[in-house]
Amino acid sequence: MPRPKNAMELFKLLDQSNCRECGAKTCLAFAGAVYQGHKKIRECPKLDQAAIDRFCDESENQGSLEQNRDDYLAILQNEIGKIDLAQAAERVGAVFAGGKLTLKVLGKDFSVDISGKLSADIHINPWVAVPFFDYIRQGKGLPATGNWLSFRELKDGKERYPLFQKRCEVPLKQVADTYTDLFDDLVRIFGGKQVDKQFESDISVVLHPLPRVPIMICYWLPEDGLESSLNLYFDDTANQNLTIGSVFSLGAGLSQMFEKLALRHGFAEVLSFR
Ligand code: SF4
Repeated sequence: MPRPKNAMELFKLLDQSNCRECGAKTCLAFAGAVYQGHKKIRECPKLDQAAIDRFCDESENQGSLEQNRDDYLAILQNEIGKIDLAQAAERVGAVFAGGKLTLKVLGKDFSVDISGKLSADIHINPWVAVPFFDYIRQGKGLPATGNWLSFRELKDGKERYPLFQKRCEVPLKQVADTYTDLFDDLVRIFGGKQVDKQFESDISVVLHPLPRVPIMICYWLPEDGLESSLNLYFDDTANQNLTIGSVFSLGAGLSQMFEKLALRHGFAEVLSFR
C-alpha cells in the first residue's frame, strides 16, 4: 500500500466540510492529527473504505508520521496567510507589529509574518512550531484559572496518555534524574518560575511554552527505595487554547529540548533510554 507523502495528501481525500464529526475542528486539523499519529484515519465517518484501506496501516505508524512533521508544518504556514494576524494577536495575548505576530515561547520571542515565515530567538523545533500555529489559528486565548490537571484528565487525553508518558514524562524524568541543575536552568534559561510545591512534590516549576498555556513540571526525588517520578500538569483551560494533539506535541517538544540542554552540559547518558 502506498504511504501518504504528507498531511495534504490525506486532506485531499477528506470531505472538507469541517463537520467536526471526527472530533477535530476542521478537516485540515484532522489530517494533521492523523499525520502526527494522534487520530486514526478511520475516525472520519465520511471517508470511503477504499481511502481508509489505502492509508490505514501507514498512517497509523507513529514513526513514519513523525518523519513527515515538517511537511505538516509547511501546510500550516500556508494557512497563516488566510487569517487576520492582528485580530489573532489580540485574542491569544500576542503583539502584532511590522506585519509580524510575536509572542513569548519559554520567555523568548517567537514570531510569524503574514506569509507564514517563522523567526525566533530560540531554535524552531517543529514540536513547538506546530502548537504555536494551532494556538494562533484556533486557540480561544482563555486566561489560566490555576486549576492543574494531568494530561490524562484533559479532554481526549486519557487514550493518548500512555504515549504521552513514553514520549514526555519518562524521558524528562531521566533528564531530571541525571542532570541535577535542570530545574535551576529551566528558571534561568527558559523563564520558568519555581512555585509552591504542588501534589506533595519536591520541586514544582511552571513554564509558559505559549503565553496562556502554562505547564507545571512536578518532580519527586527518590525516597525509601522508591524511584523518583515526574509528572506534567496543565491548566484546565489548556483544551480550549490548544488541541489535545498540540498539548501532546508541546510536552514531547519540551522533553526533547531539555534533553538537548542536558547533552550540552555533558550528560550523554540521558540518551541511553531512547
Ligand atoms: S469528520 Fe471528516 S469531514 Fe468531518 S471534519 Fe472530520 S475529517 Fe472533516
